Amino acid sequence: MGMFIQIKIDKDRCQASLNDCRECINICPVDVFQFKDGQIVTIPYNEDECTLCYMCEKKCPDKAIKVVKLY
Ligand code: SF4
Ligand code: SF4
Repeated sequence: MGMFIQIKIDKDRCQASLNDCRECINICPVDVFQFKDGQIVTIPYNEDECTLCYMCEKKCPDKAIKVVKLY
């Protein structure tokens, strides 16, 4: 979690390990997402770089991402 922005990923919804979805990784302009140990996780120190474009939320086919402003 960043100081200003938190990117929540619902691991029960995300099907990345089953269907090789990498939509969020491909679309995020500031590299918030990575695939690690079989699941999609954030790179915590990049979360505050989020531009609030919300493309990850919109493009995620499983509606697994929530972008939260902490301020
Ligand atoms: S809202 Fe945009 S910048 Fe922020 S994590 Fe999603 S895709 Fe990346
Ligand atoms: S776009 Fe959604 S379903 Fe696809 S890898 Fe990212 S969080 Fe998972």
